[in-house]
Amino acid sequence: MTKYLVFTDLDGTLLDHHTYSYDAAIPALTALKNSGSHIIFNTSKTYVESRNLQLELGLEFPLIVENGAAVFLPKSICGEPPADAIEHPEYWLKTFTQERQHWLVILDKMKPAWGHLFTHFEMLGIQEIMDYTGLSLEQCQYAKTRLFGEPILWRGSEEQKLAFISELKSFGAEPLQGGRFLHLCGHCNKGKAMQWLGQHYRDFFSNQQYTTIALGDGANDIAMLDIADIAVQIKSPAYDYPHLNRTEGVYQTQNEGPAGWNEAIFSLCDLT
Ligand SMILES: [Mg+2]
Repeated sequence: MTKYLVFTDLDGTLLDHHTYSYDAAIPALTALKNSGSHIIFNTSKTYVESRNLQLELGLEFPLIVENGAAVFLPKSICGEPPADAIEHPEYWLKTFTQERQHWLVILDKMKPAWGHLFTHFEMLGIQEIMDYTGLSLEQCQYAKTRLFGEPILWRGSEEQKLAFISELKSFGAEPLQGGRFLHLCGHCNKGKAMQWLGQHYRDFFSNQQYTTIALGDGANDIAMLDIADIAVQIKSPAYDYPHLNRTEGVYQTQNEGPAGWNEAIFSLCDLT
């Protein structure tokens, strides 16, 4: 039976854009687990948020968090540490960008010229984050535990945003547009982290062939969708499918969010 390495975005993909429910994807999640496939979250969410969801769903797999900023590789899966990873209590940790504080200093430098056009997580109270995201109090507290980047809420025009991004780039940043926030981070993305992890899977499980599937709904998913064996674009209620740099091996779902996730896995995977 084919085994799959399933790299999935969370918000708007496995989780409903508005309600954050994953219920509609449970049949496909169960079928994948039973097939021995691996389900790897590749998300802009934090480690704490992602780990909580893993525990809720009974998944014990690596995590790629904060838009490819870091890979948490459970020691229970991969005994030998990758050469370029550092030790974390239960994981080998590979980082791809500077820590959050580095980016907060840069944002402070930008505030005299741009501060009236944006706010960001550090500046927002829990209630404001709840209002913007629709997350619960507890979920917002987890969302604030960011280690690597900083979500920015843009209040200006698209044109102003492009100029703002261009200035951030002069500080070595490579901002990524997510579903709600502009994510300030370094030269990391979901594709680079997925590629690194995929290589280590080939080393650890050299006797097993995997087909890689990536599922995502936003522009910050393009890098992983471009390099997977199969790319799944999940229909969004908020925006059009982002433009990929490939046309072969691309599946666009009819259904939105987790219902689209379920539809794609059963349409594309041989799980019998
Ligand atoms: Mg998304």
